[in-house]
Amino acid sequence: MNKQYTCDVIFDLLPLYIDGMTSGETAKVVEEHLKECEVCRQMYEEMTGEIDFSPAEQKKKRRRHRYKKKSTARMLILGYILFLLLIMALCMLDAMCIM
Ligand SMILES: [Zn+2]
Repeated sequence: MNKQYTCDVIFDLLPLYIDGMTSGETAKVVEEHLKECEVCRQMYEEMTGEIDFSPAEQKKKRRRHRYKKKSTARMLILGYILFLLLIMALCMLDAMCIM
């Protein structure tokens, strides 16, 4: 059988195989192919989340999320400080006018 054709078939079968929806015979074919084929094995690992870069990628995402949160907090604090400065400036103006 042509290798590319086999890979295409395995790609189609992988989701079913991962969910345990394939017959014993099909599962055997998929397993045999995964043993021999690097490309399909990588695809399988990506689908099952058993891949090295995945946790690192999640960490990166989490860090990005945390950064976003921090910058939002910073903007709130900055807004609050500006508001206080405005109030102080108004008070000073008021005090000067009274004198
Ligand atoms: Zn393959």
